[in-house]
Amino acid sequence: MNKVMYLILHCAATPEGKSFTAKDIDKMHKQRGFKKIGYHYVIDLDGTIEKGRAENEIGAHCIGYNSKSIGICYIGGVAKDGKTPKDTRTKEQKQSMYELVDKLMKKYNLTLKQVHGHYEFANKACPSFKIEKFRQEFNEWKAKQNSKTILLTNEKKNGILPKIFNFLFDILKSYFKK
Ligand SMILES: [Zn+2]
Repeated sequence: MNKVMYLILHCAATPEGKSFTAKDIDKMHKQRGFKKIGYHYVIDLDGTIEKGRAENEIGAHCIGYNSKSIGICYIGGVAKDGKTPKDTRTKEQKQSMYELVDKLMKKYNLTLKQVHGHYEFANKACPSFKIEKFRQEFNEWKAKQNSKTILLTNEKKNGILPKIFNFLFDILKSYFKK
């Protein structure tokens, strides 16, 4: 693996609500001639993050970008008809996706601009949501995490500082409501 430059988001293209695991994808990818599952991480319907390939191992998930990216795949991505692209991520899957992306961005010193959807590199619908939407969701999630930290800090302090924090926090909150 070269230097990790991108995180690439995928869907498994399995029907909405249908349970599927990294093991199932592993089987599918082997049938397609891969030596094993092509993704580095799989996010199950209940939000469980499963490991596929090791991070330092070159994946098989995005032609032309495998040697410099980590592939993250959520279970789902098409409607119940099994073909219409649909953002089927559960609340738990979204939460796990933000946490995993956050962790990997820190680890590899990446910005949100280096997080991509598969469709940006291939003529596909994968992962069935626009990357701009993901980035916005991620920022909102991150702001919430930060505000939780501020509130915790507040509880320990008295006097003028909490007032300043609350004031700033309110500005922040109103900003993200827009
Ligand atoms: Zn994909």
